[in-house]
Parts: sequence; structure tokens; C-alpha cells
Amino acid sequence: MTSHPAKKIVPAFDVAKVRADFPILSRTVHGKPLVFLDSAASAQKPRQVIDAVTKVYSDEYANVHRGAYYLSETATANYEAAREKVRGFINAKNVSEIVFTKGATEAINLVAATYGRAFIKAGDEVVITAVEHHSNIVPWQLLRDATGCVLRIAPVSPDGSVDLAEFAKVIGPKTKLVAIAHVSNVLGTVLPVREIAGLAHAAGAKIMLDGCQGIVHRHVDVQDLGCDFYVFSGHKLYGPTGIGVLWARAELLDAMPPYQGGGDMIDTVTFAKTTWAPAPAKFEAGTPPIAQAIGLGAAVDYLNSLDRVAAADHEDALLRYAMTRLAQVPGVRLIGTAPHKAAVQSFVMDGAHPHDLATVLDRHGVCVRAGHHCAQPLMEILGVSATTRASFGIYNTMEEVDVLVHALIRAQEVLL
Ligand code: PMP
Repeated sequence: MTSHPAKKIVPAFDVAKVRADFPILSRTVHGKPLVFLDSAASAQKPRQVIDAVTKVYSDEYANVHRGAYYLSETATANYEAAREKVRGFINAKNVSEIVFTKGATEAINLVAATYGRAFIKAGDEVVITAVEHHSNIVPWQLLRDATGCVLRIAPVSPDGSVDLAEFAKVIGPKTKLVAIAHVSNVLGTVLPVREIAGLAHAAGAKIMLDGCQGIVHRHVDVQDLGCDFYVFSGHKLYGPTGIGVLWARAELLDAMPPYQGGGDMIDTVTFAKTTWAPAPAKFEAGTPPIAQAIGLGAAVDYLNSLDRVAAADHEDALLRYAMTRLAQVPGVRLIGTAPHKAAVQSFVMDGAHPHDLATVLDRHGVCVRAGHHCAQPLMEILGVSATTRASFGIYNTMEEVDVLVHALIRAQEVLL
């Protein structure tokens, strides 16, 4: 091979450069370098997001959609610019299809309380899967209690897959809505959402995707996915807490009644009658999370500045490496080994409770999540009360997987 000494080899994904953008990653915990493996719960924030939020409060803060003065106009323009950034990020047709909420949980509750109450009746069926987060179970149970609709559960295979043929068995003529995770927060399974959208639509039902984990690890194009609703939280996408997104097709938002009443969501109000503003304002009653939305816009800008294909490859490589290394630790059993997975890995270790394990790992600077991960029904199906979960972000490294494995082996010495 000819060598080109003058040519610099640019790595496809420069993880060191990415890490330098996240100030918290240079701190220590218990005297050890921080190894943050809990991004599925909430991701760390790059300086670009922190700076954007600081700039709002130090330079450009006022309420939005209100004042006819410079600062309010600037804040409004920045808030609405964030909406446009989110639209572009998920390739929604129109910016009016982007509703800001305080998080995915609120977005799902919004769909259940508005679309659900208006269009789902006694005897109608809502289909979810066995892998759902409580946020995508409980709102539908509330709807069931209010309307008498039926909740049907698509099963999960022992490896954590959601099988299409099995899924098809729970969809039928009574199905009105399919509400499922894009990616499981416990197992990392990437669900066959395009195919499931096809099944839902063939049955005349709508489909809502809980994209909390999906949008973090996969490029999302809501038109290409063929879904009707897509929800996610800003804080898992390297943005602030207190901001989330509901995307829905324009005609659905138009048909849905408001969620909450208050300022900003109205057209005219008299004591006799109130008319609504068009979407998205109809669903954004009250002063919105202004700085948080702008911070989410900054997170989107940040992700767009990276090679996202290379970032996804990097995360997939981390996952494969972690699965291989963890499986080699005696007494460790991987939970979630589906063929299509994003960078989330649950496991259990013989003789060690996940909480004890997480506490010992913390002494090594390693942050992992232990517990039921807000998926108690899934834990029951898997026959475990809890798991330990390592979840990876764009800033994690192979060396951090080594630290995790080393810390696990040390934990065995302490706990067993
Ligand atoms: N769904 C999934 C798949 C999640 O992982 C989470 C967060 N753990 C949620 C919903 C709820 O998100 P939030 O708490 O940000 O509203």
C-alpha cells in the first residue's frame, strides 16, 4: 500500500473530541475517573447545551408569545427556532406538528387523555408490548378505567425480541391504537416498528411510538417510519430536563381536543365560550419551558454537527464489545440478546443483588442503573426482580467497558 505521510488520518468518530465537549466527564467520583454508563436514564450535557441555556438566562430571557418588546420577541424567536430544529431532526412535514411537553411521559399522557378520550370507546383495543416502560402502560390503564377500552399485550421472546407474527395475533378489527417502544429501555431491543406500523394501519388503527430510547441511538424520520405519533424526552438526547416532544400528524392534532386549559392555547375566551388556537399552541397551555426548549434545540444542533452514522457505529461497537466482555465474567447472565439492539445492556450476576452491585461499582467510579427500570411487568416475565443495566452514549469508550468488567470482578470478590 502506498503511504501518504502528508495526509492526516481522521478517525471516523473522534470519541476523544466528543468527550471534551462534556465537562462532567472530566470529574472524578470517589477518587476514580467518572465512568458514566447510565445514559438511558438521562444523558450528560455537552458544553454547547449548557452554554445555550446559560445564554437564555443571562442575555435573552423573557416570556414568550407575549410582549411587544425586544427581549420577548427574541425569546419567542429562539423558542420557535428550537421547534423548527426539532422538526428538521425528525423530518416532520410541518413545524405545527411539533408540540413541546415537559417530557415523554407528559406527551404519552397527552395522547391518552386527548386522542384516547375522544376516539377510543368501550370495547375498543389498545395494544402495547410486554417490554414497555411504566410511562407507556399506566396512561393506557387510566384510559381503560375511564372508557372501558381493553388493553392487549404483545409478548416478548426470551431473548428480548418482539416477534412480528406474535404481534400480529394481538392486532384485530377492534384495535384502535398501537402504542409501543421504538427501543426497549431495559433490553435494548430495537422493535420492528415499520412492520408493526404496517400491521396497525392494515387493521385501521393508529400507532404511537415511544421514542425515548430510539431517537438517541437511531436516525428518526417520522414520515419514513410510518407512525402517527412519536414522543421523546430532551434529557436523554443530551438536552435539558423539563422538555419533551410530541409529534403527531397534523390532521390528528387538528382533530384532538386540548389537553390542559390556560393561557396561550386559546383563540378567544368569553365566560360563555372559548375557542382554541391551532396546534401546536392548542396543546401548550401556560408559560412553556422556554430555556429547556432552546437547550433542546442546541442539543439537536450539536448532534447534527457530528457524523451520526459514525456515532451509531461507535455505539454499536461498544455494545458488541460490552456483550462479549460481560458474558465472559463468571456468574454473569445477559438479559436482552435480541439480534437488533441499541446500546443498552442489562445483566444479572449470581449471588449479587443488582442494587449491591451498583453500589460497589460506584466505588470504582462506574455509574450503572439497578432496579426494575420502570418496567415491573417485564421483570416479572423475565423472572427477575431487578437487573443491573449499563447503557452507552456517544461519549463512552471501550476502555470504560474494561473498567466496568474489572469493577464487576472486584465486586464479586467483595459480595460473594
Ligand atoms: N419510555 C421509555 C422507553 C423510557 O426509557 C423512559 C425514561 N426512562 C420514559 C418512557 C419516560 O421518560 P421521561 O421520564 O423522560 O418522561
